[in-house]
Amino acid sequence: MTSAPGRHGHGPATAWSVAIVCTDRGQHKVTRLAHYDHLVDGTGSISGKPDSFDVNGGWHSYTFHCPRCTRRPACNRHTFIDTYVRRASEAGAAHLDVSYLPF
Ligand SMILES: [Zn+2]
Repeated sequence: MTSAPGRHGHGPATAWSVAIVCTDRGQHKVTRLAHYDHLVDGTGSISGKPDSFDVNGGWHSYTFHCPRCTRRPACNRHTFIDTYVRRASEAGAAHLDVSYLPF
């Protein structure tokens, strides 16, 4: 967890930490795939990256691998950050369940 000040100086930065999990849409126990520590600066821009992901789809996408089911959700990293991580942050969610995302 970082708490560095926002780089752009337009407001307080908010450090967020969200767990990337899979439940196979409620079919198995909550399984942690990765942890996403990130910083939302005063301009709303999000920086950070998951601590664990596959990059075999290229650096521009994140592929997560669930050990309990066959899901290997892959998502464009900008879509992932700017849509799903942002939505989870704004909702104050501690978990982001990838099995419910339209990957
Ligand atoms: Zn799963």
